Amino acid sequence: MELNQLTAHELIDKLKDKQANASAVLDAIYSRIEKVEPSVKAYVRVNDVKKPVCNPQPDSLLKGLPITIKDNICTEGINTECCSKILQGFRPPYDATVINKLKKSGAEIFPLKANMDEFAFGSSTENSRYGATHNPWDLESVPGGSSGGSAASVAADEAIWALGSDTGGSIRQPASFCGVVGLKPTYGRVSRYGLIAFASSLDQIGPITRDVRDSSILSQVIFGYDPNDSTSVKQDVPDFSKSLTNDIRGLKVGIPGEYFVEGMDAEVKTIIEEAINKLNSLGAVSQKVSLPHTEYAVPVYYIIATAEASSNLARFDGVQYGWRAKSDNLIEMYKKTRGEGFGDEAKRRIILGTFALSHGYYDAYYLRALKVRTLIKQDFDAVFKDFDCIVTPTSPTPAFKIGEKTQDPLKMYLSDIYTISVNLAGIPAISIPCGFTKKGLPVGLQIMARPFDEAMLFRVAHTFEQNTDWHKSNPKL
Ligand code: GLN
Repeated sequence: MELNQLTAHELIDKLKDKQANASAVLDAIYSRIEKVEPSVKAYVRVNDVKKPVCNPQPDSLLKGLPITIKDNICTEGINTECCSKILQGFRPPYDATVINKLKKSGAEIFPLKANMDEFAFGSSTENSRYGATHNPWDLESVPGGSSGGSAASVAADEAIWALGSDTGGSIRQPASFCGVVGLKPTYGRVSRYGLIAFASSLDQIGPITRDVRDSSILSQVIFGYDPNDSTSVKQDVPDFSKSLTNDIRGLKVGIPGEYFVEGMDAEVKTIIEEAINKLNSLGAVSQKVSLPHTEYAVPVYYIIATAEASSNLARFDGVQYGWRAKSDNLIEMYKKTRGEGFGDEAKRRIILGTFALSHGYYDAYYLRALKVRTLIKQDFDAVFKDFDCIVTPTSPTPAFKIGEKTQDPLKMYLSDIYTISVNLAGIPAISIPCGFTKKGLPVGLQIMARPFDEAMLFRVAHTFEQNTDWHKSNPKL
């Protein structure tokens, strides 16, 4: 195996034992990029960036290991544009808190940023100004989104691991489509300082990795209270290595009936059922449960998320950040900048969100959506009184073809039907590989847990992984 194909924990061990050095890891990644990037397109602005000289601190935890960062997380001095024309040329003067933490732990921030749907609006990474990323398992299919570049870079061995962001499924769904591990932490677990906001009450940064151990290591580094983010929570971060027990005997697993309904791909259904049988054979006790407000999750999400997005995007006016259209008149300049700077999906969301918040409609849409959000949260609270975790598919289908859903935004929105409730409820969830379709596309299993119980996710996910081989398969590129 080449260095770029190893997990981070394998590399950390090799670097410790001096069987490898961090510059060689970086070299291996760059040669892989040269080979596969023309067909995968996981990274953006590839030609603008020079290869860094790696200067690892040998006694640090991460020992100079490179990490790939989604284009919406601020990296000091490295362009961060949310794959939008309106942020063209924006070079943040500061690092996001997660980047700070990574640097302190000795990580090398990879200077190429990962492709994404513009402002994280999407489920396929087709809404990027740089064009689509291709799924390493089938180059004609999407990698999922919006963190499709992050997931594809890990799946294609162009990255050791990566950070994404998840507002309604944008870490878990691309992880599922690309056959890697994606974690959406509890809301408030990871600082959002320096994450360019999409929907502030839903966004969380999280790891995309080759296996569950790597996910736990990266979580250990980026989790924790941050006074710079008023929504970050003062809550102890446990030692996650203790959760990797390979023992789930007696755990109570809820299987929500509402997630196994029409519209779900038959192969996905069979694969998920087999995964649940596997958990049972390992000693877990699964039982059917109900999350009765599930059917409202997608409409509620698209009201709340677009409302928050329309307000967050108001700051892009050509004055403070990025790109500015030419005009002698200030109002005209605003209009031209926004008209030319935002892509179609961003405009659609600004219009929807502004409508939902406007006088006369606020009560009927936004306020009502907030109330239903509480009901969705209470569904989870009720189940978690008796169950340790909930298991579902991550997505109703495997990766779909590029272009298949771009003309039908509603169809696209429905691909998040299994991931969105988790963000509305603020709970943590992980997606892990659990099988392949006959055409060779990966399928992801989603595990959800109580707020701040990521340790439970690692325990169940790691145990599943130890007793299956799905995470070991690689796409042929
Ligand atoms: N696909 C969802 C959307 O388009 C979720 C995106 C995300 O999690 N950033 O809003």
